[in-house]
Formats: sequence, structure tokens, C-alpha cells
Amino acid sequence: MLDNKFVLEYLNTVVEDEENIPVVECLLCDMGTDEEIAEETGIKLNTVRKVLYKLYDCGLATYKRNKDPETQWCTYAWKFDCDSVSLKLNEKYGENIDKLKELLTFEEENLFFVCENGHIIYDKQKRVEYTIAAELEFTCPKCENQIIFQDNSERIKHIKKEIKQYEKSSNKVNDFFQN
Ligand SMILES: [Zn+2]
Repeated sequence: MLDNKFVLEYLNTVVEDEENIPVVECLLCDMGTDEEIAEETGIKLNTVRKVLYKLYDCGLATYKRNKDPETQWCTYAWKFDCDSVSLKLNEKYGENIDKLKELLTFEEENLFFVCENGHIIYDKQKRVEYTIAAELEFTCPKCENQIIFQDNSERIKHIKKEIKQYEKSSNKVNDFFQN
């Protein structure tokens, strides 16, 4: 599973440091308790626990508590939830795609204006929508030059490309998990 770059990329963001990936490797090999994982990977027990809880928080790992009937000590046997990975990844790609589609609509449905001298013309923005440009009477408040229409077709192209990339990634992940 970790040879899939999309999966690895995602897990890296969850465990926050690629040096922690061996914890996941251990779980995938069915390694049980936090102590066992720490021993196997050479990663500090505290760090192993943190990583395990991060995975748990993201719904990627589950644990089972076992109580030793003699000593009353509890151990936690951890397990990686492989099905969750594809689910979470698709969720993440879906969220990104939704956001980009919203942005795309915004870009496609608006006209944008800028000052030729690159001034900030309204509320920290160098680029404003038509209604704001009209309010400014198409004049830059800084240099009083006319503010001009700016073609955003390159932006639109770029957003469309990004959406396609996420869709492709999502398909690749699905193919990977179906096989
Ligand atoms: Zn200006």
C-alpha cells in the first residue's frame, strides 16, 4: 500500500513526518502494541503513541484493549484500517475538487479589473470584480489611472487542470484499491 504515491503522500500528512511512516509499516505487518512497534522501529514510545493517536483520530487505525487477568495491566493492540485509507483519500480529493469548482465558477462568472501600475485598489486586493470596479468609477485610488479589464482565461485553464489532476488521482486510488 505504501508503494502507492497518493497513499504515501496522504499518510505523510497524517503522521506529520515521514520518519514516522515505519509505524504505519508496522501496523500493516500486523504489529500489535505500542511497545512492540517502538521496539521494532526504534522510534521513541512517546512518538509512536502520538502517531497512533493521529492515525486513530483520522479513522485510519483502531485498537483493542486487552487486560492481563493476573497483573490487571492493559495493553492496546493496534490495527490499521486499510478500507479507511481509500475512503479518506477520496473524501479529501472530493473536498479539493469542490473547492476548485467553486473557485472556477467565481472566475467564470465575473469580470476582473486591475491597476496597470499594480496598485492595491480595494481592501488589500490588486484585482477586483466588476461591481467594485464600478464603485471606484474605474479609477485607481492610488494613482488615479483608469483600472482595466484583466483576462482571467489563464487562471481558468489552471483551475480546470488542477481539477482534472485531482480527478485522475482519485481514479488511480480507486483502481489501486480495487485490485
Ligand atoms: Zn494605480
